[in-house]
Amino acid sequence: MGTIILRIAAGIIAVLGLVVIAFLAMAPPYFDNKMNPVVPHAPYQVSEEAQALHATIPVADLHADTMLWNRDILKRNERGHVDLPRLREGGVFLQVFTAVTKTPSGQNYEENDASTDDIRTLAMVQRWPRRTWDSRTERAIYQAQKLAAFAGKDPGVIVVRSWSDLAAHSDYEGWRRQVDHPSDEEFAEEVKRLYQMTEEEYDAYAEANMKGPDFIQWPNCRDGICGSNSGYLHRGQAIHKVPHLAFILGTEGSHALDGDLANIDRLFDVGYRVMGLHHFFDNKLGGSLHGTSGDGLSDFGRAAVERMREKEIIIDVAHSSEQTVRDALAMGAGPFIVSHTGFDGHCSSPRNISDGLMADIAEDGGLIGVGFWEDVTCDASPAGIADAILYGANKFGVDHIALGSDYDGTVTVELDASELAAITQALMDAGMPDDDIRKVMGGNTVRFFLENLPAE
Ligand SMILES: [Zn+2]
Repeated sequence: MGTIILRIAAGIIAVLGLVVIAFLAMAPPYFDNKMNPVVPHAPYQVSEEAQALHATIPVADLHADTMLWNRDILKRNERGHVDLPRLREGGVFLQVFTAVTKTPSGQNYEENDASTDDIRTLAMVQRWPRRTWDSRTERAIYQAQKLAAFAGKDPGVIVVRSWSDLAAHSDYEGWRRQVDHPSDEEFAEEVKRLYQMTEEEYDAYAEANMKGPDFIQWPNCRDGICGSNSGYLHRGQAIHKVPHLAFILGTEGSHALDGDLANIDRLFDVGYRVMGLHHFFDNKLGGSLHGTSGDGLSDFGRAAVERMREKEIIIDVAHSSEQTVRDALAMGAGPFIVSHTGFDGHCSSPRNISDGLMADIAEDGGLIGVGFWEDVTCDASPAGIADAILYGANKFGVDHIALGSDYDGTVTVELDASELAAITQALMDAGMPDDDIRKVMGGNTVRFFLENLPAE
């Protein structure tokens, strides 16, 4: 009798164990897919003219939370918004990856307290290292390590730590010159040089991978052996984009410091060059835009901001209370980025700060990234995003506007990273001059980082 009960109990435990294993295997991709959808749509029509213009732009985006998810970004994924093939297909040169380290349950734009921590659960479910469970700093460090590991596996990727890193690799002037497509010979020479291919290797490669006159499948070479991944490269981009993707690390909220100023240096040392002060709740630095206090900077917040500026860390004020932004401005801690936002005068929302304060940020030399989701633009289509960009350019100056998608930040979007040329098309359709389109699609962001990153 006893043995039967034991056997039944053992059976139940085994079944429960299998259920837990199945949950741990299936839940992370399930959540990633569910939280970061792309609205199904027909392919966007991009004219040859828009595609040619897009290919001359070092496309740059100020905000993606991709490192929060267990997703292999080296290959093309059916879920989420960002991976290397899709970035390349979208013509992206520079992407800021932002580390989310704590979010409240029932997150909303009006009012959240700091008592709950959904990222702890996500870290456990995704089987992040034990050290990340109880430390926001460790969660940020882990996300930096993930990005470094990806970068280490792709010879075309650099994680930028200094303006000289960026300058050495961006050849920004090259992007401007690159209006005409390279000839077949120029293209072949460049690919052979980049990937150290012999004439025969190149011929075989080109035969297998050319996709029409303007696109080639991106080579993926390691130890002298070249295969291909699923990304396509516009030939116009091949000549000057070396390496082809530059990443910058940012935090989303300085609760990532675990309340300790010394962690600014630890995060700097693993590569963080942008630090957001807040996310959805008040923290030790002061008030969030969606917190309970509306406070400005605390004494700790002022000390943190001072230390960040000593290290030439760029401060991101997206999600900070208006009083926090005013306090930081008064300290001379700018120029700031507002990495992902809309404009309150264009789309009134508790997620968007007032136009008056946005004007102060721009006047201080700041850079404002326009988000791709409906809550901030009131219309997440390429035309709607273009409309918000035009509003910002007209109101705050075209030199202060950039892209700030919030890709993979649990938002619903209508285009993923591979489809960014649709925004170039929409800006052309709206009558924006080509030079201005180059600025807002990436030129401003590259310039901003060249001007504001530390020298080393
Ligand atoms: Zn955010």
